Amino acid sequence: MSSSPAFPERLTQGYRAFLDDRFARERQRYEQLAEGQAPQIMVISCCDSRVSPEVIFDASPGELFVVRNVANLVPPYETGGEYHGTSAALEFAVQALKVRHIVVLGHARCGGIRAFAAPSEEPLSPGDFIGRWMNLVTPAAERIGPPDGDLTDYLTRLELAAIENSLKNLMTFPCVRILTERGRLQLHGAYFGIANGVLMVRNPETGAFEPATDLMPERVSMLRATTVTP
Ligand SMILES: [Zn+2]
Repeated sequence: MSSSPAFPERLTQGYRAFLDDRFARERQRYEQLAEGQAPQIMVISCCDSRVSPEVIFDASPGELFVVRNVANLVPPYETGGEYHGTSAALEFAVQALKVRHIVVLGHARCGGIRAFAAPSEEPLSPGDFIGRWMNLVTPAAERIGPPDGDLTDYLTRLELAAIENSLKNLMTFPCVRILTERGRLQLHGAYFGIANGVLMVRNPETGAFEPATDLMPERVSMLRATTVTP
């Protein structure tokens, strides 16, 4: 017989630290936020434990409306009877919160993208939820063509192309398209490097991902050679 589950000690410790530090410092903000949230920015990020938008963007509570899913994908608009968690979050962010920006935040070494590019023979479970979800990457893969040589380079190009495809899918949501065309909503792509901490931002004019402007100079020069156009 299994023992009763214990709440993870790591979380209890972390919560104590939060109470003593952040909550103590930002108590007033939390009290105000209890009245309601009004974030200006929605971030669609991967579930990956290394890519937390609040950490990367040094965000305070109430600033970012975040939805995370495997490989930070946005499905196309559809009104079928399935369960659409990401679409529900998107609808709430755009229609109720009236966010001004939506950022699709991809990242290097994405396990979801790798699973699409090099699927295992057997799904992880009979439902094959990851396999079916990652089918959303198919248009991006078709766009960049088959791997030609270095797998890491191919995966990077696929990660960037998947961001591009999610931005395209965002525009299939009528509320997103209308507000974007009226200039009341902006869509952005970004890509986090994990190992080097570098953030690339999609240039809306060219579609290329370029280092964010506030990087330290040596990191920018390091990246010039690796900037990838999806
Ligand atoms: Zn990922």
